[in-house]
Amino acid sequence: MYHEQKAGSGAGVAYNCGDCGSEVLLRPGDVIICRECGYRILYKKRTKQVVQFEAR
Ligand SMILES: [Zn+2]
Repeated sequence: MYHEQKAGSGAGVAYNCGDCGSEVLLRPGDVIICRECGYRILYKKRTKQVVQFEAR
């Protein structure tokens, strides 16, 4: 049930999951969540800036 959208220039930012380390590609407006394990803390690959989604 994957739907990859690799087309489109600059339409996504790659993150690494803080738990399982999987690469997660997010587009603006996407929920910040690992699609492999559901972890909500992702690290931006380039800047190492942590991005955390406030779970409710
Ligand atoms: Zn993960």
